[in-house]
Amino acid sequence: MEEEEEEEEEEEEIDAPTSILVCYFGCPTILRTSWSNENLGRRFSKCQNYGNRRRRCCHFFYWFDQPMAPHAKVVLVGLLRKVRNFENEKRKE
Ligand SMILES: [Zn+2]
Repeated sequence: MEEEEEEEEEEEEIDAPTSILVCYFGCPTILRTSWSNENLGRRFSKCQNYGNRRRRCCHFFYWFDQPMAPHAKVVLVGLLRKVRNFENEKRKE
């Protein structure tokens, strides 16, 4: 068994694809959700060893979802900001 030292982001397994992509070296890829403002909620696959310096580093990266419409991004970012503000306010009470 190999030790796992990757820090895991929180992850929901909703709407997971039934087939798993493999990278150029044939390792299974992992499906993640992006939370950057540029690609909010957009899912991507990357190699298990992506950016891993201890193993053979692999740069396999694939956007699973289509890019979002520019306006949808703006709406989403605005909504997220509202949620965060709301949660911060709640915490102060
Ligand atoms: Zn790989």
